[in-house]
Amino acid sequence: MNNTRTVLVIGGGAAGNAVTILLRRAGLTVDLVEARDDWNATAGSGITLQGNALRVLRELGVWEQVRACGFGFGSVGITAPDGTVLHVQRDLRTGGDDLPATVGMQRPRLQRILIDAVRGSGATVRLGTRAEILDQDGDGVRVRLGDGTESRYDLVVAADGLGSATRAAIGITDKPEATGMAIWRVAAPRPAGVTRTDLAYGGPAYIAGYCPTSDTTLYAYVVEAARDRACLPPDSHADEMRGLARHYGGFWPEITAHITDPAKVNYTWFDRMLVEGSWHRGRVVLAGDAAHCCPPTLAQGAAMSLEDAWVLAQLLTASDTWDDALFRTYHERRTRRVRPVVEASVQIGQWQLDGVRDADVPGLMGRTMTMLQELP
Ligand SMILES: Cc1cc2nc3c(=O)[nH]c(=O)nc-3n(C[C@H](O)[C@H](O)[C@H](O)COP(=O)(O)OP(=O)(O)OC[C@H]3O[C@@H](n4cnc5c(N)ncnc54)[C@H](O)[C@@H]3O)c2cc1C
Repeated sequence: MNNTRTVLVIGGGAAGNAVTILLRRAGLTVDLVEARDDWNATAGSGITLQGNALRVLRELGVWEQVRACGFGFGSVGITAPDGTVLHVQRDLRTGGDDLPATVGMQRPRLQRILIDAVRGSGATVRLGTRAEILDQDGDGVRVRLGDGTESRYDLVVAADGLGSATRAAIGITDKPEATGMAIWRVAAPRPAGVTRTDLAYGGPAYIAGYCPTSDTTLYAYVVEAARDRACLPPDSHADEMRGLARHYGGFWPEITAHITDPAKVNYTWFDRMLVEGSWHRGRVVLAGDAAHCCPPTLAQGAAMSLEDAWVLAQLLTASDTWDDALFRTYHERRTRRVRPVVEASVQIGQWQLDGVRDADVPGLMGRTMTMLQELP
């Protein structure tokens, strides 16, 4: 393989970090540019990583660190709002039998592990700047960064997230759409009895849930109808979340006692998007949330982003010819998996918005997770 080629990765989230590590391992020259000065200031308290995400993290060489920092488990509890456990469902091991079904992690810990792996890979990292001008010809892209530097690359990977400016800059007009739901999230100490995710459906919110993220921590969330963000001053966030959480029983009173600091409570709308048609224009290709996003009802967004990186890196490193055919193969392989995940994630939320009580949520989840057991 011709490994003298050069790649610019735009965005240092899960997708951008993963593709950087894999391309560097194959000997390509990779520059990564990240808009934020503080690369580790990742929003959000925790993340649920299912087996298919863990499979990619193992491929990146960071599984042992993820295992050591996270909290592995293999089932999900469905409870009544008062905390009564109604049903315990075993999770499918979507990454294979040698990986846990699920690992909960603090987001900043995951980001730190990936940052260290990117640094260790020998990629050149530029923080606090953006790609401002992308000028393509037949076999490369001239890029000018916000800091005034200019370089030419054989390929640009746009992993700049949901609001991707690169996606717009190459003429792809798809944009995220709000689904009508929003989530309150907070990190809290883990009560000793919390050893898996429990989800309460009903009560004053659509869902109240938590996920252990280490021996000592969890993240808790409450999902409700999206409200006008302008009406929610940030200093009210802890009161708003506590106001919903206090209606739930079981471990919730212990968790709710820690929802006190508005700066630590995150409020986010749910969005959906799947870029239709190809995910590339010339030598610029999308990966991760820049190409697709879904509500976290299946906890698969980062998993899909990591899988994008894995598949894209496999194709790029296996071929000396980076042409439309290669990028079409990437798009076909990914949409086969991403489309059902986006559709199922949106459907599960929509059933709740519509008040459909007899919806077959376990059946839809089961079919989607079974599909994800296959290699991407
Ligand atoms: C409420 C919520 C809960 C979720 N829970 C889960 C879960 O439990 N499990 C799961 O698998 N997924 C979950 N997800 C989805 C997951 O967070 C995303 O799918 C994942 O973070 C996408 O990674 P990414 O690298 O594509 O994008 P991002 O993580 O958004 O990273 C993009 C990066 O690009 C940078 N950037 C942006 N613009 C530029 C630019 N012009 N130049 C340079 N850099 C730029 C940004 O600063 C950022 O660092 C959740 C999402 C939400 C909203």
